[in-house]
Amino acid sequence: MTIDLKLTGGTVLTPAGSINADVLVDGGKIVGLVDGSLPVDAGRVVDAAGKVVLPGMVDVHVHTREPGFEHKEDIETTSRQAAVGGVTTIFGMPNLSPPTNDVETLTDVFERYSRTSIVDYNHNPAPTKYGEIQAMSDMGVQAYKIYMVVDTGRTYPHPAGTGMHDHGELLRMMDLIAKTGKRFIIHPHDQALMDYIEGEYLARGDNTPKGYASAYAARSGVIWDTAIDVVLRLAEASGCPVHIAHMQTKRSIEAVRRAKAAGIDVTCEVNHWAPFLSTWEDVERLGPYALSYWVPDEGRNAVWEGMVDGTIDICSSDHAPHTRQEKEVGWTEMWSCHTGTPGIQYYYPLLLDAVNQGKISLDRVVSLVATRPAEEFGLWGTKGAIQVGADADLVVADMKSKWTIADEGVLSRCGWTPYDGRSITANIDRTFVRGEEVFGDGQVIGKPGHGRLATANA
Ligand SMILES: [Zn+2]
Repeated sequence: MTIDLKLTGGTVLTPAGSINADVLVDGGKIVGLVDGSLPVDAGRVVDAAGKVVLPGMVDVHVHTREPGFEHKEDIETTSRQAAVGGVTTIFGMPNLSPPTNDVETLTDVFERYSRTSIVDYNHNPAPTKYGEIQAMSDMGVQAYKIYMVVDTGRTYPHPAGTGMHDHGELLRMMDLIAKTGKRFIIHPHDQALMDYIEGEYLARGDNTPKGYASAYAARSGVIWDTAIDVVLRLAEASGCPVHIAHMQTKRSIEAVRRAKAAGIDVTCEVNHWAPFLSTWEDVERLGPYALSYWVPDEGRNAVWEGMVDGTIDICSSDHAPHTRQEKEVGWTEMWSCHTGTPGIQYYYPLLLDAVNQGKISLDRVVSLVATRPAEEFGLWGTKGAIQVGADADLVVADMKSKWTIADEGVLSRCGWTPYDGRSITANIDRTFVRGEEVFGDGQVIGKPGHGRLATANA
């Protein structure tokens, strides 16, 4: 018997722990994890000696900007960065033009992915049209997304049709989503508190990145904490599975820990900037390019602690590119600036570098980027793990390779990375999506249209 592909000689991260094995791939699936001395003929053999073989990242929070904002990014450019960054499945977000919140817009977005994405995909629509929620679930979505923000006067990132902060309407959405069995992703934000807090900054004319960062972190992050308290209580009241984005305060991480202990179905995520790009020094140096949320040390330490102990379930990128032009205005008018920063190309390598620094174990990183997102977004069994029968979504990484992130290597249409100049140790050598190499030898070789809908409905 000849199989399609064999990855030989590597250390393989499986749900049962690290093993030294050859990974056998046929028909896009993992068909065996075997001792290297076993002779197996393969159409292609990839030497992974001295390397680690990891499951591809399942990134449930990605802003592809298509349709509507293709001057920033599109699905194909996003998926190219995914391939380079070891991400094999992306979940898009609904803040597009038109916003994704019904069967018609979701059909259009799915069609765009199927034509142009190199990696597998799904999409998280907004549940703002109540009559469309069940039908979008039937189409294969695994989660819905809401911003607890209504229009703040900016065209981005919270367009009409994607936001809600009325608690009654949020509970109604949860009741409807609970019936689908899918998960409800929430961008937490207490808009009434923020109106008051940011009003004080703007009244004294502080429209700078430092002012903006301070306002969002004001009073130990009260705007995040009260919003997350509300979400946890409504999740308890509705039984709706919820997923909280942008975790960054000590108090809210403790609240999620308590809610989990009490049996509430809550998961949460940390995005790349919280552990890696949120010091005051980052805010001062990068200004609008840093995002610009400031996570004071107390919060960042809690983030790392939560990532290590499992309170934080998922690391997802919140890849959010904007052009330099859109960012530059932020130095003097930060409240008019488009917030968000690109990250899908570098999050997995940054986490592997953190393993080398002793901040977190490799097993925990695999859980955060692959196991938990696959489990909680309905893909376990096909995605998120190196196990027989699963899709061959594989990453070969060199944990000893030192390199420097630079703008020149950025594949995002925006053309910049906030990590320009940062040296890390850990490099992704190759990425496979269902057995097909999409990145290798420094080149994106995946073909647009290779990506398929990743769903539990199949
Ligand atoms: Zn986002």
